Order: sequence, then C-alpha cells, then structure tokens
Amino acid sequence: MSILKKDPISLMKPEVVAMKQQAIFAFNARAKSMDHVINMTIGEPNFPTPEHVKEAAIRAINDNETHYTVPEGNHQVLRAVSGYLKKKYDLNYDPESQILTTGGVTEGVFSAFNAILQPGDEVLIPSPSFTIYGPDAKFNKATPIYLDTSKTNFKVLPEDLRSVLDAHKKIKIFMFNYPSNPTGVSYSEDELRALADVLKEYDVFVLSDEIYSELVYNGKHVSFPKLLPDQTILLNGLSKSHAMTGWRFGIVCGPKDIIAQINKIHELATTSISSISQAAALEAYANGLDDPIAMREKYQERRDVLYEGLKKIGFNCPVPDGAFYLFAKIPENLNQDDVQLANDILDNECLAILPGSFFGVGGEGYLRLSYAVSMEDIKGCLAKLGDYVKLHSQA
Ligand code: PLP
Repeated sequence: MSILKKDPISLMKPEVVAMKQQAIFAFNARAKSMDHVINMTIGEPNFPTPEHVKEAAIRAINDNETHYTVPEGNHQVLRAVSGYLKKKYDLNYDPESQILTTGGVTEGVFSAFNAILQPGDEVLIPSPSFTIYGPDAKFNKATPIYLDTSKTNFKVLPEDLRSVLDAHKKIKIFMFNYPSNPTGVSYSEDELRALADVLKEYDVFVLSDEIYSELVYNGKHVSFPKLLPDQTILLNGLSKSHAMTGWRFGIVCGPKDIIAQINKIHELATTSISSISQAAALEAYANGLDDPIAMREKYQERRDVLYEGLKKIGFNCPVPDGAFYLFAKIPENLNQDDVQLANDILDNECLAILPGSFFGVGGEGYLRLSYAVSMEDIKGCLAKLGDYVKLHSQA
C-alpha cells in the first residue's frame, strides 16, 4: 500500500546493510535449508539460562508481577545493577539517576544514538564491527566513519584515533566494542588509558559496548567508564554473561543528564521492558555473580581446541582475548575472496562459517568462526576444514 512506510532497511542501502545484516541472514537461511550442516555462525551462547534466574522469573509470574514498570526499570533492579557493577568493575553509578534498563544492548545503542545524534553528525566505528552500529547511525541520518583496524591487529591505536578525530570534526560518538565481535580482540588497561587520554581532548561521547565483558580469558576486563566516566555511556546486559539473549535485557549507564535523555527515547519506544525479564535480571545481578564462570571455562576449552586446530591446517588468527569468535586469516593457497570461499565451504563441506567482509571494512580475506557450539561440532568443523584445504589448496 502506498501509505506503508518505506522499508527502513532498503532506505539504508547500499553499502552498510546490504553488505552486512542482509548478507548474514541470507547466508544463514541457505545453511539452514541444507541437511547436516555444522553451523559456526551462531552469535549467542549455547547454554541454558541459570536455573535460579529462571525460577525468579516463574515466581514473578506467579506473584503477578505482570504490570508496566517505570521506564528506566524497577528501582530494585537498578540498585542490584549498581551493586554488581561496583563489585565486578569498580564502577560507581547512582541507581536512581545513572542506570537505565533496555531491550538488550541492541535497543540501548538505538536509543542512545537517537538521543545524541543530529542529521549530518558522524559516528566513528572501528571496523570490522558488529553489524548494527552502521545502520543505526544511518537511521539517525548520521554518517558512519569506519576506522580500518586490520593493519593494527584489529585494535584501535591512540594515534589513529587522534587522526580520525582531527579529520572528522562532526564525529559525536565513538562506538567502541571490546571484547570484539567479530574478532575476539580486547584491550589492556594501559591501552584503554591511552585511548581515554586522546578522547578527553575531544567533544565526543564514547558508547562502550561491553556485552562480552564476562567472557574474557586472559586477564581482567577493565570497563571504559572507569577511565573516562564523564564522556562514556556504558552498554551491557545479560545476553552473553548469563545466556539470556531471548530475555532482551540490557543496561545503559552514564552521566545523569544523558541518561535522562536516553530514557525519554526509550520510554517513547517501549514504555518499559518486560517486568518478568526484570525479575530475572534482579536475581542474576544480585545472586548470579559467579554464573558466567563455568560457561567461560567451557568457551576457553573450545577456543583453545579451535585455535590450535586452525593453526595446524594453515589458518592464522589473533588469539582471541574474549567473546566467542575466532577471526581467521584465509591461507594464501586458498581463494582469497572470503564470500566465495565461505559459500564454497558450505556447498562442499556442509560447514557454515561467515565471511569476514560481512563485518565491514578490514574483514576481507578473513572468516569468522563462532565457538558457541559443542566440542563435537568444533572437532567436526576442523575435520571438514582440513579436508577442504587438502582438496582445494593451489600449489
Ligand atoms: N553487541 C555486540 C558486540 C554483539 O555481538 C551483540 C550480539 O551478538 C549484541 C551487542 C546484542 O546484544 P543484546 O542481546 O543485549 O541486544
């Protein structure tokens, strides 16, 4: 019908969405239509939500906690979030004015962009990156500026950050994510401090997407607002730490005035998030501090097996510090076009792995493998890849 609003996705073509989200959906649809495929494209934990968290949600239903809450979220939940962030990352957020609950980080990014960006603004996105940031920027009539990190081990260096901020005066948001999807790369405290020192000199907000903060294998996760509290908006949630992707629970924390602005957008969009998910989150934040440990240990075992196995068959990658992804460089004796190669591997080996270029600039020539799958699938993946390399290597 003519009054139908134009499809927001098609509005953002060609480069961002067409290359990323839609390509990922299409690739996955093809993998799903085939029989006996090992699927290493999955971006969510393959563990169940902890029992005590599920029980808290069931209790909430039985106790009729089934009504709207205030938009920012039940204040008991906000207090539990504040206590958790203090214990885990030594952060000091006032639960009454500096924390907001959202429908996952996904809604947090969307509402924060909407609250901050004006048409014509720019958003700095280190690339390759998680797929929503560019489209969210474009949806707000802002321009994504991609900083290619492929020549710097997929890390943002302070000097590169400074030069891009100097060259693009309209950057209002630095969209940061670590541990990173798709590369698994994270940062030491010194590296983060060096970036914070640069950012202090500019009038930009940092949106720090730390959704994988509990999945760090080497050392400790340092949260960015610890280093730059007045400019940082922290995005986190329970999707990855507590295997709760379907509950749609996220948090946005930051300076009081900006949180109030984001809350207005959030209220317009949602009224509030689910009261049942909030009850589950209260339990996770108050009593589930150790829940991620067993899952993290499993991911680490899988990471080690996958990393070593890939190395043996000629795929080099940075050892991932966190998250559950490996970003593997395609060996020189295979087809260097990652999209063609991933499709060929799917057709010949029934193995689904995402091409690196689906994650944008700098991802070309890489494949992203998710190890949020069983050890059996990891071993199956290595056997299939090994076979593929043997058959298809060019001398
Ligand atoms: N941020 C990153 C970097 C992700 O990889 C993902 C999911 O894959 C999300 C955010 C989505 O988080 P949520 O489930 O809280 O919306």
